[in-house]
Amino acid sequence: MTTAFPPSCAGWPASRAGAVLSIDLAALAANYRLLAEQAGGAVCAAVVKADAYGLGVAQVAPVLERAGARQFFVAHVDEGLELRAHVSAGAGITVLHGPRPDGVQACLAAGLRPVLNSLEQIGWVRQAARAAGRAVGVVLQLDTGMSRFGLSEADVAELASTPALLEGLRVELIMSHLACADTPADPANAMQAACLRRMAAMLPPAPLSLAASSGIFLGPAYHFDLVRPGAALYGVAPNREGPNPLRAVVSLRAHVMQTRTLSPGDRVGYGLTWQADTPRRVATIAAGYADGQAREGATRQCAWFRGQCLPVLGRISMDSMTVDITDVPEGQLEADGMVELLNRNYGVDALAEARGTIGYEILTSLGRRYHRVYTGGETAMERSHAGEGARV
Ligand SMILES: *Cc1c(COP(=O)(O)O)cnc(C)c1O
Repeated sequence: MTTAFPPSCAGWPASRAGAVLSIDLAALAANYRLLAEQAGGAVCAAVVKADAYGLGVAQVAPVLERAGARQFFVAHVDEGLELRAHVSAGAGITVLHGPRPDGVQACLAAGLRPVLNSLEQIGWVRQAARAAGRAVGVVLQLDTGMSRFGLSEADVAELASTPALLEGLRVELIMSHLACADTPADPANAMQAACLRRMAAMLPPAPLSLAASSGIFLGPAYHFDLVRPGAALYGVAPNREGPNPLRAVVSLRAHVMQTRTLSPGDRVGYGLTWQADTPRRVATIAAGYADGQAREGATRQCAWFRGQCLPVLGRISMDSMTVDITDVPEGQLEADGMVELLNRNYGVDALAEARGTIGYEILTSLGRRYHRVYTGGETAMERSHAGEGARV
């Protein structure tokens, strides 16, 4: 027996796909609006690197733009080039890593704004600006404590004492990134904010940016002029405490391929690592590690059927996993039925916790073999055209 499909999803080619990933574009748009409102007067950009955290930049970026996003951030020049085709010409695209020397021309020719993280990178783009005979808009990133990307205090001092190093560059934004924003009580947050102010004061005046998803929820002292949420747009909880204010964006359902009854002593999967001690019914479902269902930690995860946890048994295979359906009443879940791997109550954060990782990694490792269904797109468009406010 097959579980009921939501009416909007009728016509899924369920016979062909092993599993169906649904992406709720109305929830995505609602999350953008909630974050924009939370950010007060700051510009709310949208981070769509890594193919919009695995959800599909071609589908996600236009919805975010209709919801009000005018500034987009990606990690790589190539991601920026791809994004260009999916947003309007007036949308700003900033490349977090900035270009490497042989990517500067492609970056600037496509109107991508580079983040400059080192004096070397500043030099490459300065030369390109001189060669082009025009000023180039750039973002400067400062390392305020994470030791990952950005100019050091010594670099900033050098820029301050040698203004010619920034010749031909129009500094449109000065940014840094918080290391501990998901832990509001961590003193590193305030230290990084103070460090950003202190270092930026040595540079030409420009708008400032510090907060990503979690930073937005640290309050107005962290908003500065522009916030850069990524994960929260896609439903990931911004911090470890309290209820998640964001709507779930993804759900995932996989087909049952086969069911069987096990006798005590029967074993399951590669390595025969799980053994039944009582009679059991099990189902083999069509999602495995090639679909992003990591082997590590899998036995702590649940599949779900009508609100019931179906424990994963044994090792995950490339294309399948085996779950325990003993507690599902006979006849309700058979071959061609579906179980849920991500749903409203068991979202990316819950799955991540079971697997010992973070929601970000669950999203960005979602498989390419899933049949993808985008729901709620029209709703998102209608709302935007009706000029509805930020509160959803
Ligand atoms: C990825 C990234 C973001 C977005 O972070 P989230 O935690 O996903 O909101 C913002 N800024 C920088 C520099 C990033 O690398």
